This record gives sequence, C-alpha cells and structure tokens, in this order.
Amino acid sequence: MNSKDYNQRFIFEDLDIRGEFVHIETSYQTVLSKNDYPEVIQRLLGELVCASVLLSSILKYEGRLAIHAQSEGPIRLLVAECSNTNGVRAIAHFSEESLSKLDDNASLNTLIPNGKLAIMIQPTSGKQYQGIVPLSGNTLAECLEGYFEQSEQLPTRIYLAADQHKAGGLLLQQLPGNNDRLSEEVSNQWEHITTLASTTRSQELTELSADTLLSRLFAEETIRAFEPQSVSFQCRCSREKTRSALAAMGRHELEDIIEKKTYISVDCQFCTTRYRFTRDDLDHICMPTVNKCQAGTLH
Ligand SMILES: [Zn+2]
Repeated sequence: MNSKDYNQRFIFEDLDIRGEFVHIETSYQTVLSKNDYPEVIQRLLGELVCASVLLSSILKYEGRLAIHAQSEGPIRLLVAECSNTNGVRAIAHFSEESLSKLDDNASLNTLIPNGKLAIMIQPTSGKQYQGIVPLSGNTLAECLEGYFEQSEQLPTRIYLAADQHKAGGLLLQQLPGNNDRLSEEVSNQWEHITTLASTTRSQELTELSADTLLSRLFAEETIRAFEPQSVSFQCRCSREKTRSALAAMGRHELEDIIEKKTYISVDCQFCTTRYRFTRDDLDHICMPTVNKCQAGTLH
C-alpha cells in the first residue's frame, strides 16, 4: 500500500481492546479543493472524514456510512461519508455572514448550536440504519463517543485532529471480555489504555504514522497491527443517479425549467461534476425509476 491515506486496525495482544487508526492527506485535500471553506470548517471536515473511516471500519456492513452534523446555527450541515471500500467524500453548508462574526476559537456549541449528529448506515441491500444523538460535546470526538454510549455499544474512545493539510484519528474499543477475566481487571485495563491515549496531542495525530504513534503511546504493550487499508476520495454521483433524482421532480417542473433556460444543469456538491440535460433527455428522465436523491444544486 503506497497511499498516504490509510486506516489500520490493531489489537492489544494481552488485553480485551481493539483499535483503529486513520490518516488522510490527499483525499482530505480533494474534499477541500471542491468548495471554498473557512479554516474552521476545513478542520471540522477533516475530523469528520476521519470519524467516518473509523466508524466504517468497526461497524460491519456492505455499503456506506454517513455522518451528518446539523444545526440552525452558523454551520448548517457537515456531511462525511465512507464506503466499505474506504471511498470518502464530504461537504459543508454554512452561513458565511454568521461565521465571519465569530472568532477563530469559537466552540463547537457556538458553531453548531443545539445540533444533532446522525450516523447512518446504508447497506448495499437491506434496511437503512440511523442513530441520532444531540451534539452536546465540546468536540466532534466527544459527540461521537456519546453516540456509542447512547446506543449501548461497547465502551469506545475517539480522538480526532485536523489542520488544513492533514487529518488523523484514533479509535479504541473494549472487546467483550473473556469469561476467565474479572470485569474489574478489564475495566482497569481500559482505564489504563485510555489514560495513555488521552495524552495524544493533535499534532501527533495528524503527523505521525500508526506505528510511531502506537509505539509512543503504548510502549509497554504488545500490539498486533493488521494490513493498512488505503483511503481515497470517491464520489458516488453519476449521470444516471442525477437523472433519477430529476425524475422525482415531475415532468411539468422539468419542462418549465427547460422552457426558461433551454437546459437543466445539476452540480454534484461533493465533487462539483456538472450534469446537463436538454429537452431531448426529458423522455428518458421521466421513465418511472426513482432512486434516492443525491445532494446536488439545480441551475
Ligand atoms: Zn459527485
């Protein structure tokens, strides 16, 4: 694997704890290149993309995982998605005016007040799963930990960091203990490992490789690391999906747009690909197949 963008699974050989590490550069830069984002949003998007890779790695499914942070405040929407092949994409909607009134160190609660964090798993086949928690922590990582707590999953700690160039994350999760271990012993192990992990500085998360970071944090522990998996920017949009989304609008509305503008143009907000349709496409568009609408801007 030559990619600078990767995630790596590891386990502590002698403890009931597993982990995931993620580092992104190229895919992160691709996300940022698609729209003009203020610095604070660039960092949050880096963290959210890392979180989507971490969660996607530990939640078993075939399909894609999406994390949405939503509010009525300066940041309206943050979305990061990761497929089971580690294809990521992300987007943010925000009020430039409201953001410009805030200082650089505005808290998450100021940026996304009374927000909600939704975690969605859309399997290739089968039912979609969605979990929602209030965005009540001081960091995205804390809010995501709240999701694990609320959904009564295994105890989980998440550490995220991003500058405008690189982003990184670490996830630790307690495994169901062996019967021959005392629960007190298991919780002591957990306490010990998470105390060590909480000493991680943001710069270490964004700059260090998985090997270096893990050996620095857990020098006394025996860690088995698995093969790293590369992460890349991938958009799911296509002309066919855009056509299906337009079909949901109904023929009359589409004819009105073509009447006024001679064509319909839809931009994918994630990758900025522009799809253009003319009157000749109308019959094909309005065939009765309706798929899920993708985020797009209609012109
Ligand atoms: Zn796209």
